[in-house]
Amino acid sequence: MIAVQSVEGKTVAVLGLGRSGMATVRALEAGGATPVVWDDGAPARAKAEEQGVEVRDLTKAKSWEGVSMLVTSPGIPHLYPRPHPAIAAAWAAGVPVDNDIGLFFRSFATSEWDEFDQRPKVVTVTGSNGKSTTSALIHHILAESGRPSQLAGNIGRGVLDIEPARDGEVVVLELSSYQTDLARAMTPDVAVFTNLSPDHLDRHSGMGGYFAAKRRLFAEGGPDRAVIGVDEDEGRYLANQMSEGPGDDRVILVSSGTKIEGAAWAVFARKGFLAEWRFGKQIASVDLRNIKGLPGAHNHQNACAAWAVARSLGLGPRAIEAALRSYPGLPHRSQRIAEANGVAFVNDSKATNVDSAAKALQAFQKIRWICGGLEKEGGLGDLVPHLGSVRKAYVIGREAAAFARQLPGIEAEICTTMERAVGRAMEEAEAGDTVLLAPAAASFDQYDNFEKRGDDFTEQVRSRLRAG
Ligand code: ADP
Repeated sequence: MIAVQSVEGKTVAVLGLGRSGMATVRALEAGGATPVVWDDGAPARAKAEEQGVEVRDLTKAKSWEGVSMLVTSPGIPHLYPRPHPAIAAAWAAGVPVDNDIGLFFRSFATSEWDEFDQRPKVVTVTGSNGKSTTSALIHHILAESGRPSQLAGNIGRGVLDIEPARDGEVVVLELSSYQTDLARAMTPDVAVFTNLSPDHLDRHSGMGGYFAAKRRLFAEGGPDRAVIGVDEDEGRYLANQMSEGPGDDRVILVSSGTKIEGAAWAVFARKGFLAEWRFGKQIASVDLRNIKGLPGAHNHQNACAAWAVARSLGLGPRAIEAALRSYPGLPHRSQRIAEANGVAFVNDSKATNVDSAAKALQAFQKIRWICGGLEKEGGLGDLVPHLGSVRKAYVIGREAAAFARQLPGIEAEICTTMERAVGRAMEEAEAGDTVLLAPAAASFDQYDNFEKRGDDFTEQVRSRLRAG
């Protein structure tokens, strides 16, 4: 655990008592603060009380007397669509609002570091898609290379839950836009921006707010090194803003699909080959096509970003290539869960938005596509150019019929439930087909989260295969 610094003797409010909220409570206590907590859910409050933590209704103005700071959880709206009443009450009382990421950055470095040979570093990964994959891949490359590393943030453990850094350690943090929007301090050594496509627009009041939240990691005086995906205008804009000019190699440009030759430092993938260029010369090339853990151009983008980070941390191409080959992949992201009679089954339940589903559709051929769920803002129009490899869609979700109507030119069967969708897809699949769950929608109309949806798919497939 990281003890929060500069809070000794202070009363600090914590809003939201999920995993990161409770980790924050413990980290504050370790720093000598007295936490007072609130959660809208009575069971969470009762649990905190049981653990001896003071529960206080932070939505009331009188609760703020003597409180020096509010730390809030990423799931709680802090501005749009409207601030949570406790956050509005903190503003009214003049109490600064922060989150665990802000506390982490101001508490991570300790006087112990003076004894270290190599200063610990923090790598942050943000963007619309590919954050978890890129973060996990960087962590895997570091671990395989024998470099101490911890993975935290939106993936795995809460940031304050990690162990204090060891000599030369690299902490890899996956950060969502909710987290980067609010943190008062963010000083990564290397910051990655994967890509940008519409998502979570309600929480950021549109695309501008969403991009602004992610951009905060790249503010002036920010990272020593920025790794930026330049396949959209926002990435190109950010790279331009960070760079002093064409000879500036503090910015490493990343692309999936475009050859970047003019930059001081670039890593890009084309037709399945990764290439690293520095000052007009190609210095590495890797064939990514047969790497099972990283299928498709979108994963090649992630591989390029992870490669760039690892190179900027001083790792050699051979070691990185070996680690790409041994990367096992993450559950629910282009995860090959079974293969039978020439049919492959892929769980990409994490494709909760249109862009990630479009990428999955481009990564496979002859697809029997299980899609649908709680539709996100913006409609499904951006999927249409990528439907060429779909043999048939099997649509799930409470609004399956409305979803199917937006998929012109392909055969779509309204299945509503996963059970039926898997059953029908398996009945009709032929050797060479891929049965792909890539919903292009959130799961909340039928499941608690995308993991449960992916588990259901996996279970349905496996039990049918077992039954023969
Ligand atoms: P995040 O943490 O940003 O949500 P994940 O690595 O969990 O990213 O992947 C989320 C979804 O996006 C998955 O469906 C995955 O297959 C897809 N995906 C992964 N990398 C990319 C990428 N670089 N561009 C677009 N989609 C991607």
